[in-house]
Amino acid sequence: MNEAPLLEVRGLHAQYGATQVLHGIDFKVERGGVTTLLGANGAGKTTTLRAVCGMLARTRGEITLDGCRIEALPTESIVRLGVAHVPDGRGTFAELSVDENLRLGAYTRRDKAQVAQDYERVFGYFPRLKERRRQQAGTLSGGEQQMLAVSRALMLRPRLLLLDEPSFGLAPLIVQELFEILASINRTEGMAMLLVEQNAALALRLAQQACLLETGRVVMTGTATQVAGDEAVRRAYLGS
Ligand code: ATP
Repeated sequence: MNEAPLLEVRGLHAQYGATQVLHGIDFKVERGGVTTLLGANGAGKTTTLRAVCGMLARTRGEITLDGCRIEALPTESIVRLGVAHVPDGRGTFAELSVDENLRLGAYTRRDKAQVAQDYERVFGYFPRLKERRRQQAGTLSGGEQQMLAVSRALMLRPRLLLLDEPSFGLAPLIVQELFEILASINRTEGMAMLLVEQNAALALRLAQQACLLETGRVVMTGTATQVAGDEAVRRAYLGS
């Protein structure tokens, strides 16, 4: 069995124009594991996700997926290797129906029979979307749109799901429902996730590993239990 992590990031630097945002960060996502990136606004969490999926022009360092270096690949190749990104702000196509959004999620796949099964599988996780499959995505509620964004990413049958602030702007009950579904997908399918989340308490319950970023540097890394138990983390991020 291959024991190497699914994703390994080493010495990642990123900049926008002349501004350096990531200063050499290291972290891993284990096979079937969930790693969460925590940190204050502007710490570089979204930038890290963008770098992993090849969306940034100016990066330095190594990003390895399942033993293959991917940092120089274009986004489309990274998607084909099984990395799906649920960006902040959701990124569904507002003018298209739920159904069309889901089918677009599978655009890189040729295994049509399996795609049809996955279409039913995501409705199993998100039955509310099934009822609304002909509805325009832009007219869904915020929670439904987030569920659609996750579902669209699942249609890729990814090995690694990148989630950027999935709880953002959602009512607490919807957030709880969404995180229970994510936990179930991780548990039952062994799908690995890299989760960026402002709600640290929630993120540390879903994740097994955590990494705390401050102004583009990793200042703490460990199991979710270790990080949740740290006094400074408790005060700054867990409100206790
Ligand atoms: P938040 O929780 O507020 O989303 P974050 O940890 O995800 O924060 P990033 O969005 O990665 O932080 O931003 C890190 C830094 O990079 C910030 O100072 C931000 O202003 C800057 N930045 C982000 N995107 C760009 C861009 N396109 N051009 C210039 N600077 C940017």
